[in-house]
Amino acid sequence: MQGYDKLFINGQWTAPSHNKTFESIDPSNETVIAHIAAAGQPDVELAVQAARQAFDHGIWSTLTGKQRATYLHAIATEIRNNLKHLATLEVLDNGKPYPEAEWDINDAADCFDFYADLAEKLDQNTEQDIALPDARFSSVARKEPVGVACAIIPWNYPLLMAAWKVAPALAAGCTLILKPAEATSLTAIELGRIAEKIQLPAGVLNILTGIGSEIGPLLTEHPDIDKVAFTGSVPVGKDIMRSAAQQVKNISLELGGKSSFIVFEDSDLEAAVEWIMFGIFWNQGQVCSATSRVLIHEDIYDALLSRLKTEAQNIKIGNGLEADVKLGPLVNQKQYNHVLNAIQRGIDDGVPLITGGKCPDGFEKGYFVEPTIFADVPENHPLWNEEIFGPVVSIRPFKTEKEAVESANRSIFGLAGAVMSKDIARCNRVARALRAGILWINCSQPTFTQAPWGGYKQSGIGRELGEWGLENYLEVKQITSYNASEPWGWYLK
Ligand code: NAD
Repeated sequence: MQGYDKLFINGQWTAPSHNKTFESIDPSNETVIAHIAAAGQPDVELAVQAARQAFDHGIWSTLTGKQRATYLHAIATEIRNNLKHLATLEVLDNGKPYPEAEWDINDAADCFDFYADLAEKLDQNTEQDIALPDARFSSVARKEPVGVACAIIPWNYPLLMAAWKVAPALAAGCTLILKPAEATSLTAIELGRIAEKIQLPAGVLNILTGIGSEIGPLLTEHPDIDKVAFTGSVPVGKDIMRSAAQQVKNISLELGGKSSFIVFEDSDLEAAVEWIMFGIFWNQGQVCSATSRVLIHEDIYDALLSRLKTEAQNIKIGNGLEADVKLGPLVNQKQYNHVLNAIQRGIDDGVPLITGGKCPDGFEKGYFVEPTIFADVPENHPLWNEEIFGPVVSIRPFKTEKEAVESANRSIFGLAGAVMSKDIARCNRVARALRAGILWINCSQPTFTQAPWGGYKQSGIGRELGEWGLENYLEVKQITSYNASEPWGWYLK
């Protein structure tokens, strides 16, 4: 594919300063599908200055929320107009099954519409009167955009993760630089084309493709960037915290997880099979909120394990563009090796492997891994504690609610959790006892633009989506007036 070797800076398609590109690979067959522009230091500088000037000159932030909303709705419309093209690119780049890619693209469009509506509402609530205990004073709290934002995103939901950051940042009045993951840059570049088509003012959205370890620190340490919004791994999140500390930058982090799914003895077995499987095998398990460790009550442990084994073996594996495929390849060789190594460690340590555990037969090319289930996983084993980010689920039995909650909470992560039982009071109790940012009752994974998203502990800082996502890109200013004619009295009497 041609046309992915330029950067989108200040409204122009620009060749990277050193004319460097890197390859994008189709993970289903390991062929090169595109050459992507690799930004260098001069490009970072150009993009930051473009965003800075667009912000400082008020090109974007001085528009009304209603005016910004018009652009955001236009982006949503263009995304929908290009649904099939964008979803196909996502499958080619990331490997996910096509129907899941269509969900992502539709969700991305909805996200732009949602934040367009919030941008309009900002016009009504930009300033809020504050009641003060001293009648001589009046005060308002005023919301203002943070400034120039930098959005660094991962490869698991490429356009959707871009939407989760670009839409609220633009709605708030920020200008920004989007840095997609090197494995999946295609739809971010398409977003640049959409910005060009709808005539988003130059410099408001800049797109820098490139190698994260090279240009990432240049962005996160840049003094002209006010805000860094990052989704990705915990180690890179920690690096970003360190580099942002130099200028005490505003940061928000969406990091990894090892989320638990607690299944009680009164659960409907077939519903449990459906949600446990969806919770770990959709998007090939490359989901930060995946419920990758499952606690099953001992009374139904053997029966449910046996059903999960049968159904996991029935999942159709293949190229995401083929009909009925539910499990595509992992995103790249690095992730494939990482997942297979994690599985091998479990096997070597004698953790019972119920099914899967290898590349499926007949797949000589591509990064395919079978749906994999480990049972009776020891609580101190890496399979139970470390994020694998692949189609690998670890299962343990439990006896009591207290034991299950304590086990689920023993984690450095706190992104999500799920609980299943016919006893809704019990579900609500457990959901409130788990230390995580997202809790599902009698399901796992459904995600809504309107609801807050983010983690406790090492799963991150801040919340995306909903009105919380907009707050990420807003500062709050206090303006207090002294309205009395008499002296204040500290000096003059
Ligand atoms: P990653 O951390 O390697 O990369 C994420 C992004 O950071 C990419 O764009 C990459 O180019 C960039 N990057 C790499 N090094 C950088 C540096 N030193 N400075 C700045 N940017 C840098 O993660 P990944 O492999 O792309 O994604 C997988 C991880 O992301 C998993 O751990 C997963 O849990 C997490 N994730 C979390 C969420 C969430 O919502 N919490 C969503 C998706 C993925």
